[in-house]
Amino acid sequence: MSQHKVLQVTLLGATGSIGSSTLDVIARHPERYQIYAITANTSVDVMNELCQQWQPRYAVMYDADAAAELSDRLSDFDIDTRVLYGEAGLLQVVESADVDCVVAAIVGAAGLVPTLAAAAAGKRILLANKEALVMSGKLFMDTARENNAILMPVDSEHNAIFQCMPANLSEHHSSVKMTNRQADSGIERILLTASGGPFRTWSAERLHDVTPEQAVDHPNWDMGKKISVDSATLMNKGLELIEAYWLFDMDISNIDVVIHPQSVIHSMVTYNDGSVLAQMGNPDMRTPIAHALAWPERIASGVEPLNIIEVAKLDFEEPDLKRFPCLRLCYEAIKMGGSATTVLNAANEVAVAAFLDEKIGFNDIAVLIEQTLNKANIINDVSSLEGILKADAEARTITNDCIAAIH
Ligand code: NAD
Ligand code: MG
Repeated sequence: MSQHKVLQVTLLGATGSIGSSTLDVIARHPERYQIYAITANTSVDVMNELCQQWQPRYAVMYDADAAAELSDRLSDFDIDTRVLYGEAGLLQVVESADVDCVVAAIVGAAGLVPTLAAAAAGKRILLANKEALVMSGKLFMDTARENNAILMPVDSEHNAIFQCMPANLSEHHSSVKMTNRQADSGIERILLTASGGPFRTWSAERLHDVTPEQAVDHPNWDMGKKISVDSATLMNKGLELIEAYWLFDMDISNIDVVIHPQSVIHSMVTYNDGSVLAQMGNPDMRTPIAHALAWPERIASGVEPLNIIEVAKLDFEEPDLKRFPCLRLCYEAIKMGGSATTVLNAANEVAVAAFLDEKIGFNDIAVLIEQTLNKANIINDVSSLEGILKADAEARTITNDCIAAIH
């Protein structure tokens, strides 16, 4: 007999890649987790299927028309799921006192408001939506800390780092609370590993002609389109650098990016006695999701055991900031401080969407981000959500103007 309280889970971004991996893990442990709410942007077909399968209390479509259509379709079945829509719907299923755990798996800035609300409501947050943290680092961490949220990193690298941190730092049940305590723990550096993406060995000239199809075809990980392009430009690693900076309260000069093409080591932590701890496993997001769901316990995730003989070799290289300037821009944005990382994130989202729409080339992504960082008014005070959303909106306008100027 299980001794656990069944945790009620709100899954933001249920139709995405992280969303479906999360549902796969949860399906293996019905005695521990129940789906309270699922959310998506517009995908009515998938949400309809998920509602049939999971019968959640709520289904939220961000898009109002999609919500009406879903509601209409569900009315043909004997299902009690209530359909909500818009930001208000997202906030309702995040903030409800019935909810224990919020999986933040919306892609991009659209995830900020509900993820921040989960922090303010003191929930256990499984953070996949790195853009929310990149946009609002200090505000998000302060909000989580003040409200005793349990912040569990799902991004595989950050989950690996968390696992390589000393157990006594984890005893407070939250990565948030371990901050400021690294000094006594002997931790020296974080080694953030990166696969290098599909174009690791390509020349700058060849990168010029990359198509969206090539960019979303990642060698090791099966992910949503936006993060796949980010992995190809190394922007993903830059965003993760900013994410690690906030999550682990680590000076940026103590975080190294290491290219590791096999994606078997998910990141490492080095200590003052010379120890280097690494977390390894097959590249499958169900491992960090299962870890973040059950921590400090462990549960089965369905991931195949790592066959280290088959892996045979682990390679490491330094990243090339010339061919992949997005990573350099992330270092620069952190040093600029204030709203610079908000601006960088907004410019990247607009540029990646334009690239996927075949409006700009692959190398234009970094150019547009740099132009936006140069033109935007970087503000110092990023303590309010309003200020952050304003910086985000202004940056999007600038990037769109720069795209228009290209044509
Ligand atoms: P995805 O594109 O597969 O799914 C995105 C989800 O967000 C979908 O459910 C979609 O309906 C929802 N969504 C999109 N726009 C929305 C909006 N405006 N309002 C409300 N909902 C919206 O993305 P993904 O690959 O699952 O990534 C999700 C997040 O997790 C991203 O922030 C990504 O960086 C992060 N992440 C993903 C992986 C991975 O392996 N896929 C790994 C680490 C981190
Ligand atoms: Mg990652």
